[in-house]
Amino acid sequence: MKIVAVLPPSEQVQAQIGMVRALFQGHLVELATNAAELEPHLPDVEVLISTAFTPLTRAMLERAPRLRFIQVAGVGTDHVALDAAQELGITVAAVTGANTVSVAEHVVMVALALLRGLIPAHNQLARGEWSLPYWIAHARDLQGKTVGIVGMGRIGREVATRLLPFGVTLFYYDVNPLPPDQENALGVTLLELDALLSESDLVSLHLPLTSETRGILNRERLFRMKRGAFLINTARAELVDEAALVEALQSHLGGAAIDVFSPEPPPPDHPLLKLPNVVLTPHGAGVTQEAQGRIAQGVIQNVLRFLEGRPLTDVVVQGNR
Ligand code: NAD
Repeated sequence: MKIVAVLPPSEQVQAQIGMVRALFQGHLVELATNAAELEPHLPDVEVLISTAFTPLTRAMLERAPRLRFIQVAGVGTDHVALDAAQELGITVAAVTGANTVSVAEHVVMVALALLRGLIPAHNQLARGEWSLPYWIAHARDLQGKTVGIVGMGRIGREVATRLLPFGVTLFYYDVNPLPPDQENALGVTLLELDALLSESDLVSLHLPLTSETRGILNRERLFRMKRGAFLINTARAELVDEAALVEALQSHLGGAAIDVFSPEPPPPDHPLLKLPNVVLTPHGAGVTQEAQGRIAQGVIQNVLRFLEGRPLTDVVVQGNR
């Protein structure tokens, strides 16, 4: 069987591909680092290992007549044309849970960085300016703040667990509310989205990107947030009206921590990169060393299940090819 892994170039990936080749003996395992390198494999690829960094469009799937299985190395499957996969009979599966803790720890890190004004203070001092006046004017405690978690799934719950000991008030919004015993255990209270936005000092997004959630944080909702509040987006850029976010960051919000962009990587003149009150990371909240190991194991185990005809885990689209 021909297996192609479309993964960003890194030493870690090279090592993982070596492991995959050793495990999948008898199968042809190729590595592509971007869409252009994937293209020549489309006519005969049977299994694709994919990440959010390389979209798999309908046109690409239509050029892959032998493709039976797409294994996503992570949670979000929005980069795959899922409706096309469904029509063409291609199975799509994810690896859920492997980087949940990594994203949640990232949220704690950037929440504190935003509240303290860590990045501007660091940059001033690194330029040789004594940044204490900036620090004194900006640094805030997390204790006593109200945090709104939008999407109380696997990551949202881990964020709540880590933030509660800081002494915050936690609100959440989700189409699937938690049972009351879980709400009590996590110390979270359900609110409608608009109420959550106007109550929270800090809002963290943990929704999947779907047709319902695309643009959910539109201009009106961004300006509904408290003046001076902070936004954290480690989910997907397309959840937020990016142009309105730039405007809000210039006039209304205190700052934002952004891990996800549209497109990725963002062009050097992307307006979010130019603002003084942002904490920027390269879609890396969920790719710690430990998470990469767990994701690789999840991918390998599911591809082995597929090759051996065993039931798969985390199936998003059940195909019939
Ligand atoms: P999850 O499926 O466990 O949780 C998502 C939650 O959103 C669920 O509770 C669901 O009920 C809720 N939801 C879905 N549609 C909704 C809607 N229309 N309105 C309100 N709530 C809705 O997913 P997760 O594992 O917590 O991951 C969340 C997202 O985070 C992923 O889809 C992915 O896009 C993103 N992510 C990013 C990184 C990164 O490195 N930046 C890593 C992992 C995941």
